[in-house]
Amino acid sequence: MRRPSPTGRPAAGGRAPHPRAEQLGFEGMPERLFVCTPSKLGAYADCPRRYRYSYVDRPAPPKGPPWAHNSLGASVHTALKNWYALAPERRRPEALATLLKGTWVREGYRDDEQEREAYRRALSWLESYVAGLEPGVEPVGVERVVAVKTAVLAFNGRADRIDARPGPDGPELVIVDYKTGRTGLDADDARGSQALALYAYAAERVFRRPCRRVELHHLPTGTVAAHEHTPESLARQVTRAEETARDIMAAERAVADGADPDEAFPTTPGPRCGWCDYRRTCPTGAQTPGKDPWAAVDLPAETISDQD
Ligand code: SF4
Repeated sequence: MRRPSPTGRPAAGGRAPHPRAEQLGFEGMPERLFVCTPSKLGAYADCPRRYRYSYVDRPAPPKGPPWAHNSLGASVHTALKNWYALAPERRRPEALATLLKGTWVREGYRDDEQEREAYRRALSWLESYVAGLEPGVEPVGVERVVAVKTAVLAFNGRADRIDARPGPDGPELVIVDYKTGRTGLDADDARGSQALALYAYAAERVFRRPCRRVELHHLPTGTVAAHEHTPESLARQVTRAEETARDIMAAERAVADGADPDEAFPTTPGPRCGWCDYRRTCPTGAQTPGKDPWAAVDLPAETISDQD
């Protein structure tokens, strides 16, 4: 049976709607905020159906096996986090092997040989990376959660690193995001990243210091892709995120009101389907050949999500 109209108007036949919380939209009453992370917004923007499988359907459909590239990314991220947890005098390159081994994630690799090769590669990325870090400079935050509320969003996210660097009017914050994928990155990637912009927007408010610069640190190539935001460009990214949140809330409301979930959350077929965790559940994805869990660790650049 279809649920009553969310407008609050009596349904055909004159029966009053069932008073659900979201129907009590009296004028002036604040709307419920959409609680989100960059991954949540990104999932919907990539594919509404993937969003539904991850965040709406309960019990959630089973995911495919773990990906080696995610294991590799997570291992490198954790090693860098633990690097900064060391006392500054103990941050020596010799410490890296122990750090990396200590939290190495083994899942998804084809075999021991591939895993060992990935470990050696990761260690050499880390050695090169820390050699370029300025000694004695402490980040403002490492794996730091920043949160902010807007008229629509209750946003929170964990930034890989937040640096403080000298600016014309005092220290300014910089959002640093580590990348370990095979894909090269450029300034357009930094400029277009909604996640980085939202981190910057939130960090500026949490720390009450300007935060306009965002950087993607690509460890495999040792390159940095950067972008300097303006207050206007950050505001545009927030508006875009709010539009996505409104679309998600409308789709969720439609399903609650009896709409077909498959129509409210349509599929978006594309190259990502081969890498999608829900390919086996999704009727569109099931028609796409799946990638081996270790494929991205061997192959040159492909269209896959990097480990955040
Ligand atoms: S397989 Fe493709 S269409 Fe299906 S949920 Fe995943 S990304 Fe979306």
